[in-house]
Amino acid sequence: MKIVVAVKQIATLGDEVEFTDDERAVDPDFLDYALNDWDSFSTEEALQIRDRSGEGEVVVVSVGDEDAEEAMRRCLAMGADRGIRIWSDALDGADPITVARALAEVIRREGPDFVFAGVQSADSVQAATGVALAELLGLPRVAVVTKIELGDGKAVVDRELEGGIVDRTEVDVPALFTIQTGINEPRYATLRAIKQAEQKEIEVVEPSDLGEPAYRVRRMYVPEKGAGAEMLDGSAENVAQRIAEIVKERLK
Ligand code: AMP
Repeated sequence: MKIVVAVKQIATLGDEVEFTDDERAVDPDFLDYALNDWDSFSTEEALQIRDRSGEGEVVVVSVGDEDAEEAMRRCLAMGADRGIRIWSDALDGADPITVARALAEVIRREGPDFVFAGVQSADSVQAATGVALAELLGLPRVAVVTKIELGDGKAVVDRELEGGIVDRTEVDVPALFTIQTGINEPRYATLRAIKQAEQKEIEVVEPSDLGEPAYRVRRMYVPEKGAGAEMLDGSAENVAQRIAEIVKERLK
């Protein structure tokens, strides 16, 4: 049983934000970094499946510069067996299709039984990389997965729909799933495991052919605040009264 998990080191914003001089990205001085929340759930799910099956390996793959290894080491400390980091300058600020192309090249070589990605990444919120990756790998895929049961050459998975409805789906294996938060409880890595993860292997690979970018960011900015907002002060009673008046005025 081999499971490849695509994991991303995401950027998180503090209270203040400034953009780079070309206005196409947030100035890195205003960013902190962390493992994408969705990817800790998908790593945990992969580890549980490996451990239940009693054999196999979990390989975490990430597109990112050297700093991304910190997020990868967290997954290795949770129990993943090894990591592969993919990088070239052409991947700096890459769109999700280009990232999926880079991932596909490496994952094809690995020939896994399952590929897991998160539903979305908290910083770029594309919800596209996993689905694009399935297409490039020619794998069946199920999105927003909340439960996985393995059968003989098949998997039965629940996926979340609107309004609390669940869609139970059967797919052939190998397959790609995008994993939803809450599917499990990601384990905390012990200090010892974090130390041991320092020794685990992270292979670094340069992609060969990324093709044309699927899009380019033109400008990143904070939109101007719209006019017409009225701040309501006072007791809850006064605020509620004022809201009632505003609603009545607007409905006239
Ligand atoms: P996104 O399409 O950016 O919302 O991200 C969805 C999922 O795609 C993430 O949870 C990861 O599993 C995967 N992914 C996105 N970007 C990367 C990356 N740079 N390296 C590895 N996996 C990624």
